[in-house]
Amino acid sequence: MVDVAACGVCKTDYHMYHGAFDIDYPQVLGHEAAGTVTAVGEDVRRVEVGDRVALNPTVPCGDCSYCKAGRETLCEDLTSIGGAADTVLDGAFAEKVRAPAGNVERIGDLDFETAALAEPLACCVHGVERAALDHGDSVVVIGAGPIGLLLTQTLRDAGAGEILVSEPVAERRTLALELGADYVNDPTETAVTDAASETLGAVDLAVEVVGFEATVQQAIDLTSPGGRTLVFGVPPEDATVEVRPFDYFYDEVELTGTYSLRPADFEVAVGLLRQGRVDVDPLVTDELPLADLPTAFERIDNSVGMKKIVHPGE
Ligand SMILES: [Zn+2]
Ligand SMILES: [Zn+2]
Repeated sequence: MVDVAACGVCKTDYHMYHGAFDIDYPQVLGHEAAGTVTAVGEDVRRVEVGDRVALNPTVPCGDCSYCKAGRETLCEDLTSIGGAADTVLDGAFAEKVRAPAGNVERIGDLDFETAALAEPLACCVHGVERAALDHGDSVVVIGAGPIGLLLTQTLRDAGAGEILVSEPVAERRTLALELGADYVNDPTETAVTDAASETLGAVDLAVEVVGFEATVQQAIDLTSPGGRTLVFGVPPEDATVEVRPFDYFYDEVELTGTYSLRPADFEVAVGLLRQGRVDVDPLVTDELPLADLPTAFERIDNSVGMKKIVHPGE
């Protein structure tokens, strides 16, 4: 049992709040949480009352062949604490949240706001793993929202070469440069394909972090021979893009996707935060009491600010 000190608000919550997923209401959402353990079950050994922890909301079954193969994101019987899954348990937009002992990670003296971003960061860690990043690979990141900026830092930490970030909002471009991008591009001024050939030359990895059909197409189109395209943003289910099979044959390009996180990614993400290798402070623009959650959703609606965090303890 964890007393929730901070819980991030994300697009998934926003979609669920507006009824986009087929879930049973009422439902307590909130899946990016950190807080203090206030009680443990009889058989819990590793976690103690008083531990400051980050909460991993994904609970794979551990039993299906995907789980056994270490591919828990594809689990056939996934449970989520407050997120989207086959089974959804009450989440962390609450004063207290319950979780299996294996789903909390000790954070030492890391502040709770930072620790609350371990979940989205773990998705970035998984994405970089899926992209099979090689040391020195040149990378284009399309989209510099909170996830794009976490991903840029994760790529930098994982040994990427030069990184170009394409983003229409000026403040986000400035942040991208501060957080590890070598170049930024305003796609309303210059096509990202042109910007990439002017700055990077060849593109070893193109990551789409927006979820639009057009930007996924751009990511595919600007991937150089031998390179990879990673679909990270959440596209509409009926979106389609054009690929030329010849490119996959002759140029040995790859198109790959990434979904959610594995338990191992969460542990890595907490480590990155504890070691100060990823800076989340500039991404958090709104901190609100739990009662102001609807305000956070309104601000997402109107594209005001970046990452929003609620504090159920206040
Ligand atoms: Zn989320
Ligand atoms: Zn499973």
